[in-house]
Amino acid sequence: MTKRKRRVFVSTAFIFALQVTYVSASELATQDPYIEGFKAYAEEVKSYSNDLNHSLLSYVDEVKKAEKQVGYIGKALPIPKATKVTDGVYTVVGSMIWHNPSNFGLNNNLSFIIFEDGVFVFNAGANAALAYSLHQQIKALTDKPVKWVAVENNQGHAYLGASYWVDVGVKNLYSSQAANDQFDAGFERTKREWSERVGKNITLSARNVSDQFTTFEDKMVIEVGGGQGELSLLKRGYSGVEKVYLYDFGPGHTPASTSLYIPSRKVFFTGDLGFNERMPVFFKYTNVKAWIESYEAMMSTIPEDTIMVPGHGTPTNMATLKKQTYDYLVYLYQNIEKIVEADGSLEDALSLDQSMYQDRPVFRQAAENNARHVYNEISGGGF
Ligand SMILES: [Zn+2]
Repeated sequence: MTKRKRRVFVSTAFIFALQVTYVSASELATQDPYIEGFKAYAEEVKSYSNDLNHSLLSYVDEVKKAEKQVGYIGKALPIPKATKVTDGVYTVVGSMIWHNPSNFGLNNNLSFIIFEDGVFVFNAGANAALAYSLHQQIKALTDKPVKWVAVENNQGHAYLGASYWVDVGVKNLYSSQAANDQFDAGFERTKREWSERVGKNITLSARNVSDQFTTFEDKMVIEVGGGQGELSLLKRGYSGVEKVYLYDFGPGHTPASTSLYIPSRKVFFTGDLGFNERMPVFFKYTNVKAWIESYEAMMSTIPEDTIMVPGHGTPTNMATLKKQTYDYLVYLYQNIEKIVEADGSLEDALSLDQSMYQDRPVFRQAAENNARHVYNEISGGGF
């Protein structure tokens, strides 16, 4: 594509984005600039050709049907290839920096597990285009349909792509009850923020499908196929029906979250309980003390020899993830608690030595902010 054409395309998308701010959310869900354009064209030619008018309108119907089937029509985005974690378990490791147009909002991990009865996707992705691109990678590895989707929390990169999965026929969507409520309540704001950071044209087609989710409070078990004596499972060392355990270990990085445990594959998806490589980042809704406790609850539930797929960063083992997440949270919390107890100031907290973590991505953006956050959390100041 030439530069000139590209500029025209971007400005058209921008004009569309400006227009859609004046329509309601439900209208927005059905509006598609491509379809709308052909509808307008059909109207235009009506006065001099009924035939052309009809053929254009039937074309619009066909496109609508096709879009409903595939959820998104467009190119697969150039995202990283899924890496194999263990037998039938894959994850696309997202960018370790902030969400922006160059990473399409892929700055968390999108994972999938191939089971006997179908594919389980963990995290819907930040938009339909990302979900579609992940789906293409799944299709290249298996003919089995995607049957289940769970999301790690109420954040845009976990949830906004969910309408894509609904559009391609996924009926079983899961989230912790509280996270689903938070996503529902904050949907318009979340969509606006992500469209501003990542791109309006890629984000605005997301619809609020929180009413399609099955929710749970502490734990939920889902049977995902296989059976007693199933040969392909026995060959891989499993017996019986495989099960996926969903847990909400409590607040932390976000007020509620979903983690996913598959004992038959010895793999655990932490969601944003766990950060590897990348610095843990605290937002205004983060509760560090609760995060430490939730992490402890997770460690007392999940066996030590389990492979850990974090919310951010590459898959690793329990000991490394503990060092990268839990030990950092405890270091920060305990030291800043001492500062507060000794009547130290915010400046004392900000100058706490975090240099041992300086090689981690987003260290500069996160370190001071994290210290300030913990100081305010302990001293009762505003975030
Ligand atoms: Zn996240």
